[in-house]
Amino acid sequence: MQHDTPPVFRFAPSPNGLLHLGHAHSALLNQKICRKMAGRYLLRLEDIDQTRCTPQLESQMLEDLRWLGIEWEEPVRRQSEHFADYAAALEKLRRMGLVYPSFMTRGEIKRAVAELEVQGDTWPRDPDGSPHYPGPERDWSVEQGDAMRHSKAKHAWRLDMKRALEQVGEALTWWEADLGGAGQRQPIPATPEAWGDVILARSDTPTSYHLAVTVDDALQGVTHVVRGRDLYEATSVHRLLQKLLGLSEPVYHHHDLVIDDDGRKLSKSDGDVSLKALRQNGVEAAEIERFFRFSTP
Ligand code: GLU
Repeated sequence: MQHDTPPVFRFAPSPNGLLHLGHAHSALLNQKICRKMAGRYLLRLEDIDQTRCTPQLESQMLEDLRWLGIEWEEPVRRQSEHFADYAAALEKLRRMGLVYPSFMTRGEIKRAVAELEVQGDTWPRDPDGSPHYPGPERDWSVEQGDAMRHSKAKHAWRLDMKRALEQVGEALTWWEADLGGAGQRQPIPATPEAWGDVILARSDTPTSYHLAVTVDDALQGVTHVVRGRDLYEATSVHRLLQKLLGLSEPVYHHHDLVIDDDGRKLSKSDGDVSLKALRQNGVEAAEIERFFRFSTP
């Protein structure tokens, strides 16, 4: 693809735990492709969960990335400093009549779905395995929803998927490109309906991952999203939000995940080998690059 301006890449970790080999793979692959295409490399800290993301974990993350040899442009974008951008996008969708406040707790949703399934139905589940929202609020009037919100009930703002799809009125696709290889790209049919009425914000967290990532990729002018296959299905939601909000559309490359000896993907919470621990055990950054074949021995 030809670009008048340099392509823009980003690595977007969440500072809610220590970086591990899976993050190193993603950060290095972004850098390799970015350099090959003479692009710009941005770093974005996805720290919307202010209870799990801490300044200590953030400094550790920056230190690990520097040690790894990642070079990013300053300033780093911290999502927690941009809540107003996500609120504006949510408000736009609200004015379009595409979001509604929902009040059922996780436990209530589970019980309601279990009851529905006892009656013989199989209730739809999203690609992550969570049931689609079974509550009645999408059919409420705006006044009903507002009255309930003002009674201070905790709530989540959900996208009315059916209406959103009607509004778009055409099948959507996104571009998946083999950026690590020959660069061929192909259109992938987006299936946002598989997710049901996704959460876009909560009364106590002003944005969800889906909303923030879509808004930020556009605001930062990201042209190439290189990230793990675990986010492949979520791209359908991002594509729909881009269309509804009139935002630019990057090209995607979803890379394989680093898995452990038992075939599980690495995770921060399982205490999998962190970059910090590897470094403390004398591993060199160059060895990690060689391990992923990002450099020749
Ligand atoms: N913050 C996300 C994560 O750490 C990545 C988001 C993305 O690359 O789109 O898994």
